Amino acid sequence: MGILDPYKGFGVTFSTMFKKPTTEQYPEEKKPTAPRFHGRHQLNRHPDGLEKCVGCELCAWACPADAIYVEGADNTEEQRYSPGERYGRVYQINYLRCILCGLCIEACPTRALTMTNDYELADDSRTDLIFTKEQLLAPLGEGMTAPPHPMFLGDSETDYYRFDPDRAGPFDASGLSGAGADAPGLDSEPEPAR
Ligand code: SF4
Ligand code: SF4
Repeated sequence: MGILDPYKGFGVTFSTMFKKPTTEQYPEEKKPTAPRFHGRHQLNRHPDGLEKCVGCELCAWACPADAIYVEGADNTEEQRYSPGERYGRVYQINYLRCILCGLCIEACPTRALTMTNDYELADDSRTDLIFTKEQLLAPLGEGMTAPPHPMFLGDSETDYYRFDPDRAGPFDASGLSGAGADAPGLDSEPEPAR
């Protein structure tokens, strides 16, 4: 240790003493997060309101914390929740375990699962921190109908992923512009938490 090192250490202390303190007025004033901040998850919908989740469980298998529980079930023509064969009948994320790493959203083949900027996940009840499918589903947007209902955007799953407003059947596509990834509902992430 050099002879000047203790004075250098006190220099840091003294320079900090005269700096203006930084006090966050949370929760009265909430600062916006970075746009790609990993917050609470969301289960997205297709533009007609059908769910994008196909109950494949890939997100659950990818999760290093074993925080996701999925039970898939078959769609029927009378009870259809997603285009194609299967849907996620039960979907839960345990926020007591989740470390918000994002591996689950990388694993999801349909972009059903994304993450919002919502970071207010504290609670004093263990049960309330296990979020159900109903809590995680994106709200119904303009032109969407709550499932179960028939496939309005085409005859097959492919029609949904190559969405063409001109082939949208009885679904009113007049409010939509563009196809594919630009169509509303495909990435219906809410505004960042403020
Ligand atoms: S963010 Fe990470 S820890 Fe949380 S559910 Fe997804 S994979 Fe699991
Ligand atoms: S969220 Fe994605 S990965 Fe998870 S079960 Fe649904 S479709 Fe599969």
